[in-house]
Amino acid sequence: MKHPLHIYNTLTRKKEQFIPLNEPFVGMYVCGPTVYGDPHLGHARSAVVFDVLFRHLKFLGYKVRYVRNITDVGHLEDELGEGEDKIEKKARLSKLEPMEIAQYYLNRYHYFTDLLNVQRPSIEPRASGHIIEQQEWIKKIIENDYAYETNGSVYFDVVKYSKKYHYGILSGRSIEELYSETRTLTGTHEKKSPYDFALWKKAPPTHIMKWNSPWSIGFPGWHLECSVMGTKYLGEVFDIHGGGIDLAFPHHECEIAQSIAYSGKMPVKYWIHNNLITLNNQKMSKSLNNFITLEEIFQGTSKLLSKKFSPAVVRFLLLQAHYRSTIDFSQDSLMAAEKALERLFDAFSIIDNFNISDTAQSYNINEYYTICIDALNDDLNTPLCISHLFELTKVINDIFYNKNKTLTLTDYNSLKKIYDDIILNILGLTPAKSEINNDLINNLMKIIIEERLVYRQNKNFEASDRIRKKLQELGIEIKDFKDRTEWKLKR
Ligand code: ZN
Repeated sequence: MKHPLHIYNTLTRKKEQFIPLNEPFVGMYVCGPTVYGDPHLGHARSAVVFDVLFRHLKFLGYKVRYVRNITDVGHLEDELGEGEDKIEKKARLSKLEPMEIAQYYLNRYHYFTDLLNVQRPSIEPRASGHIIEQQEWIKKIIENDYAYETNGSVYFDVVKYSKKYHYGILSGRSIEELYSETRTLTGTHEKKSPYDFALWKKAPPTHIMKWNSPWSIGFPGWHLECSVMGTKYLGEVFDIHGGGIDLAFPHHECEIAQSIAYSGKMPVKYWIHNNLITLNNQKMSKSLNNFITLEEIFQGTSKLLSKKFSPAVVRFLLLQAHYRSTIDFSQDSLMAAEKALERLFDAFSIIDNFNISDTAQSYNINEYYTICIDALNDDLNTPLCISHLFELTKVINDIFYNKNKTLTLTDYNSLKKIYDDIILNILGLTPAKSEINNDLINNLMKIIIEERLVYRQNKNFEASDRIRKKLQELGIEIKDFKDRTEWKLKR
């Protein structure tokens, strides 16, 4: 590698060289799913982006502790801490235990992110398993005089905090701006000012998920869990905090305020945010009838798509955009990604058919390795890395189909390394149709092709055409070359 890792820090609004607090250890916290609904495209993007960062950091030699929380309590309908708990609401409507709802959707989240080849984090702590720690934090923030109790609930005092510290440091918002945005909210009569947020909420009598506390029987506010669990597993100051850009305000802004009120320290060195997904150029929203779950994509049951797409194609499409850019999902973009992914794996599937010779021409394949890693080191530029891989597929195909199919051992080893380290390991890509590699199908196709060759050699073209057509009906395409016959699965 020529260049060390640089990453864009939302806090400082610039690309910075990544220098961990305690090399080679890296602490990374990412806001995980709120488990009250089926995993959708938005979940997929955040999971895949931080998966590539996790994989890349490990590739660079860091020892990463990756913590991704599970929000199973306290995520209220409105982000400033009012309204009903979303899991609780679903539980009430479906007459299930809230933990049953949370477990069901967590299992679904794991199932679909596994399909996307997303590696599981090192620790997945649940908010509901850290109620005592959250209460300890609230006590200390009250002690430090940045929170107050009203009527059994505890609120963070944003006005008091912003006299000494910069509330808005991450999102770049001013307190005046916040005031105009929040003044119309209902239920603010308990708060000193409308932008104060809840650390603890007194539970209404019908509420199911509630705990004893010095203030009331209630439950913690959503923002608190990430500060508390991040600190518990990664320390008061840790390297990376990630999440979707929609979480920067108010969630992450509130986290910073809480942590500083608690310990006096800025909790995170690098704040990293992924941008959002649009669907057919519109914001994804159930009310716009413009919403798609991962299951619908993988099974082809969405009205917005005419066919199913594999998890590998979805992952590839997500990585074709830079994580800080928005990305538009559509039938067309998925089709294009599917074709491109196939082209990439087709090219790499022929590398074992090259001849190796000391006297072969050198193509400096190692240079592609370097520029791919450099692209990833430049703020995780996956689209640039992928475009380098496509330049390389042209080189591979050219040597194989137009030149003498011969490589030096160095070039051959570089190709293998690019395939293993970059395509499989860091980008986590897999062929769109892995069943192509299924041994049984390969062996059956070998028999069919050999039998068909006998017909062709006997000039029985009627029979050989019949086989070709029957295979075509099954979606298998046969291509005859001078010296061989090749097959592949069509779409
Ligand atoms: Zn969070």
